Amino acid sequence: MKLYPIRGGIHPEYRKELTSKKTIVALPLPLALYIPLQQHIGAPAEVLVKAGDLVKKGQMIARSQGVVSSPQHATTSGRITAVTQVAAPHPSGLPQTTVVLEPDGKDEWADLPEPFADPFSADAHAIHERVAQSGIVGMGGAAFPSAVKLNLGTQKKLEILLLNGAECEPYLTCDDRVMREYPNEIIDGARIMAHALGTPRVIIAIEQNKPQAIEIMTKAASAFAEIKVIGVPVQYPMGSERHLVQAITGRETPARKLTADLGVVVHNVSTARAVHHAVRFGRPLVARVVTVSGRAIREPKNILTPIGARIADLVEFCGGFAQRPESVVNGGPMMGQPLASLDAPVVKGTSGILALTAEEINNRPTNSCIRCGSCVTICPCGLSPLDMAAYIRKDNLEGAAKLGVMDCFSCGSCSYVCPSHIPLVHYFNYAKGMLKDLENELRKNDRVKNLAEVRVIRIEKANEAKKTALAARKPAPATTAPPSNTGETKAAPPTPEEKADA
Ligand code: SF4
Ligand code: SF4
Repeated sequence: MKLYPIRGGIHPEYRKELTSKKTIVALPLPLALYIPLQQHIGAPAEVLVKAGDLVKKGQMIARSQGVVSSPQHATTSGRITAVTQVAAPHPSGLPQTTVVLEPDGKDEWADLPEPFADPFSADAHAIHERVAQSGIVGMGGAAFPSAVKLNLGTQKKLEILLLNGAECEPYLTCDDRVMREYPNEIIDGARIMAHALGTPRVIIAIEQNKPQAIEIMTKAASAFAEIKVIGVPVQYPMGSERHLVQAITGRETPARKLTADLGVVVHNVSTARAVHHAVRFGRPLVARVVTVSGRAIREPKNILTPIGARIADLVEFCGGFAQRPESVVNGGPMMGQPLASLDAPVVKGTSGILALTAEEINNRPTNSCIRCGSCVTICPCGLSPLDMAAYIRKDNLEGAAKLGVMDCFSCGSCSYVCPSHIPLVHYFNYAKGMLKDLENELRKNDRVKNLAEVRVIRIEKANEAKKTALAARKPAPATTAPPSNTGETKAAPPTPEEKADA
């Protein structure tokens, strides 16, 4: 199959050998599990349990609120001890509402929904619903509710389901191991997803530095003519949805459009496996494989982890730290985020935990830009990082926005190649956060302005109606006192919506 080049990109040290040969091992049940209500993009789930409740594995403990949301489930059987605030797996370490579950050690499943006898003759809507109710989100790290993406076939004409097995971030091998150890489950999940989407073709793209995964997946897919497994060049950030689609189709996804607009829907390989579990066994997403690696970890591993285990539990299972880590990162070293606390829990989007030494991070002092242009050459989005950074340094966010800073997807390639060690991606993350806040503020102001205008119109109409009603009345006799009301109406009381926005 012909592949197309992608723009820019880099070849960092991959260091996957630390875990790529290690088979997946299960984490022993910890003493407590911390299950946040928000583990996905969209509205947080609404809690259904309280302290003291007994729950079984797979029981829904928080329901989704709205279309872009996702429910949460008990990840083992036991007792709810609290619904409280716990540090999020995020650099801020800000607390978020979390259900605390004390395992009873039985790991007993709840009564689960009936498996689909034949998913390929089932209505697509029934599959979407099962995936939504199973709390499945994108497991490549984005954590977007999968059912929303599976529903795109009802809105757009789709040609290809592209399963992303690129795993281009250094160190991470969780998808590699899942493909090597559970190929048939992924293939079955992919076929079910293709049925739900209505796509006639499935392509599974794997970076060529995973030859065993390519071989095993090719063998598992060989019985299905509609599925092709292809090796894609090793080039960071090949695993980004847009770049993978470009490599496969030669087509570039325009800014602020979806790959689905080009007829391609991308899901992660581990998400396909989760769909297989939900549809074939009625099991919700309660566990995932996490790569724990980095040279500060004594025994790097790929660990099957119940959602909600503390990161400290995983580190301990790996024999603790061999040396003091300079940084502990949630995700890969390029796009991952430093963790504020090891007490934060593993969530559905946690693909890796890296404990990195000073040598691996290679922190060096920042110097001035020498205008070498390397950051421009490698930017996979065709942006000009040095110019955007210059604007941001002068607090000119509008200038950075005009240069397309909102199209930056924080791949970190520019920071990686900069000989002056300028933390360019940090600049862009800061600017994107500020611009989003500004946009939200403007949207809110517009909404308040619209509501005020609607209210003025409503009052004017009420006054008009009153005047018309008065004019229609017969004139009062001369001896009668003049009406106390001159025709002006008092301002109508605000509607509940207006009150909320005041
Ligand atoms: S790579 Fe660094 S030094 Fe070179 S132009 Fe970009 S910001 Fe400047
Ligand atoms: S972080 Fe943004 S600006 Fe830098 S290379 Fe990646 S996409 Fe381009």
